[in-house]
Amino acid sequence: MDFELAIIGAGPAGYSAAIYAERAGIKTVVFDKSGGGGLASIAPNIENYAGFESIPGADLMEKMKAHASKYAEMKLYEEIMDIKKTDDGFDLITAEENTFHVGAVLFTVGTEHRKLSCEGIRQFEGRGVSYCATCDGFFFKDKNVGVVGGGNSALIESIYLKQIGCKHVYLIHRRDKLRAEEAYEEDAKKAGVEFLLDSEVEKLSGDDLLSKVTLKNKKTGETKELNMEGLFISIGVVPQNDLAKKIGVELDDHGYIIVDNQMRTNVKGVYAAGDITGGLRQVVTAAAEGAVAALTSTEVLGKQYPY
Ligand code: NAP
Repeated sequence: MDFELAIIGAGPAGYSAAIYAERAGIKTVVFDKSGGGGLASIAPNIENYAGFESIPGADLMEKMKAHASKYAEMKLYEEIMDIKKTDDGFDLITAEENTFHVGAVLFTVGTEHRKLSCEGIRQFEGRGVSYCATCDGFFFKDKNVGVVGGGNSALIESIYLKQIGCKHVYLIHRRDKLRAEEAYEEDAKKAGVEFLLDSEVEKLSGDDLLSKVTLKNKKTGETKELNMEGLFISIGVVPQNDLAKKIGVELDDHGYIIVDNQMRTNVKGVYAAGDITGGLRQVVTAAAEGAVAALTSTEVLGKQYPY
């Protein structure tokens, strides 16, 4: 066996799991298809992770990576392409066709934001365009902002942005009907959110930072330019569940991995933690779930953990 536990995904859940696993005597490897950090590393600032009043997401992820690297073997930029059950564990096959034989697998693969495509979007990511109102909303206090999307998340974020003191909040949705529950629609109206329906974002502009958003009305074809310094994209996320599906892991209706309260999936020896399990999707919950999953994996590795 090459490693006892393979953690797939080097974000907060994966790093935390690596620390807890090795400290429990489990020989552990962490794979990530990129440099690690996941979605948290694109948050301009994280201000709700205890112990750090304000820290750029990338810095927090670097600290977690450095900490986890003291314990587990890190295999960054090594994408796992396939997974197969064996008599005593699993074979993981990388993009470079290396095979690693492991006793247990922990999916900490996270989600990816569904990306909006329009002119200027890449230029203004982190310069006005954000995928997380909870993380970045505060920076837009007293400023005009927009939220793109018509689901529950977009409505909740628009209400939140109003609550924290954004000057004007536009809810930009591509259809004339929202997907969100009516209660959220009512709350957003009461909070003073302005709904721009049948509208799609055509273009973003500004100098270094975002200052203008051009919208196109899908019914009339009319375009208009609005002053906005922040634009929150909330058009859903995409769980990274391809590998989990290959090994028969059960998913919920939204594609998230179903786990019990010890982070077990339906497949013996396969665990999941962090955003890929849905729910609150915060750094603190991911880290906590990673710790629980790592220690639960002792049950298939012939080890004892006293809890
Ligand atoms: P969602 O429900 O999938 O909604 C995504 C929204 O983005 C939809 O309105 C969709 O438009 C729009 N959209 C998708 N692709 C787009 C594109 N390329 N350009 C413009 N708009 C686009 O996502 P979510 O709001 O993140 O919620 C995910 C799940 O979690 C949902 O099941 C939701 O109910 C649940 N959730 C529940 C709560 C709660 O109950 N408290 C809170 C948050 C989330 P269309 O409507 O036209 O498809």
